[in-house]
Amino acid sequence: MSTVLSLNGITKSYGPIQALKDVSFEVPEGSVFGILGPNGSGKTTLLSIILDVLKANKGNFLWFGRPGSPDQRKKIGSLLETPNFYHYLSAINNLRVTQSISGRGTAADIDAVLKKVRLFERRKSRFSTFSLGMKQRLAIASSLLGDPQVLVLDEPTNGLDPVGIAEIRQLILELRKSGHTIILASHLLDEVEKVCTHVAILKTGTLLTTGDVEEVLMDEDVVELSAPDLASLANVLRQINDDVVMDGTSNTIHLRFPRGEARLDEINSFCFKNGIALNHLILKKKRLEARFFELTNN
Ligand code: ATP
Repeated sequence: MSTVLSLNGITKSYGPIQALKDVSFEVPEGSVFGILGPNGSGKTTLLSIILDVLKANKGNFLWFGRPGSPDQRKKIGSLLETPNFYHYLSAINNLRVTQSISGRGTAADIDAVLKKVRLFERRKSRFSTFSLGMKQRLAIASSLLGDPQVLVLDEPTNGLDPVGIAEIRQLILELRKSGHTIILASHLLDEVEKVCTHVAILKTGTLLTTGDVEEVLMDEDVVELSAPDLASLANVLRQINDDVVMDGTSNTIHLRFPRGEARLDEINSFCFKNGIALNHLILKKKRLEARFFELTNN
């Protein structure tokens, strides 16, 4: 898989505030790449730098393996903040205005992008009649003019209700299917977990981790087990491993191992030999939220 974007040692300060510290990572082609971090961690600064809106103090980045050029910029659609659409104009006329300013794509593209974001039926309705979710979809439509290979979106679901969020999620998944690479900043971990294939997690300008979502989440093996007598189970498990944690709310026990080292069949037969019949045994997948808090709270 080739690399769409690579960042090398990006550093940025605003006077005394260091917004980004030596950030490096790569965005694979065809991925939905989530840039995550608490408020003020540097997400918007990072997106502004890769879109040439801001200049880094140090470091560099390559789009498609090369330093930026106007030709390459055409392959990148972006939405850093909601465009100023005219309230009294229809969706289609608003996109005509956007297109005349950006010079991206042709008139035929307008129908195509309206169909992609499922607003074609409403193309003649005034912008003022749109729900927040529809307004956001129109904004994404404007960034799709000219059929860019890559889309860069800053907090695309901000302020939307659950239905609006689900529609944007669906749209992102469809865009990925049709071959686009999507880079998005977000602080909605649940959302990111549902759409992203890769993540980079930032905290106060420092990159804490990056990679395939599975890799980031599976940093260790957590085995979840249960038996009718939890106390006896815990005693038996302590013979395998000291890291035995009781989870009172779910009546289970968590046993941790270094990544790739948990052997469920061996655990099962060890318990059985020691007189414990397990009624639950799984390798538990961490939630992104739990992993995020582990990383950002240290
Ligand atoms: P949020 O989720 O709140 O938008 P973010 O992760 O996008 O946050 P940035 O907006 O990139 O973070 O901000 C990173 C840091 O840089 C913060 O401490 C912020 O206060 C500071 N900062 C951002 N823009 C400026 C600016 N123009 N002048 C001074 N400081 C700034």
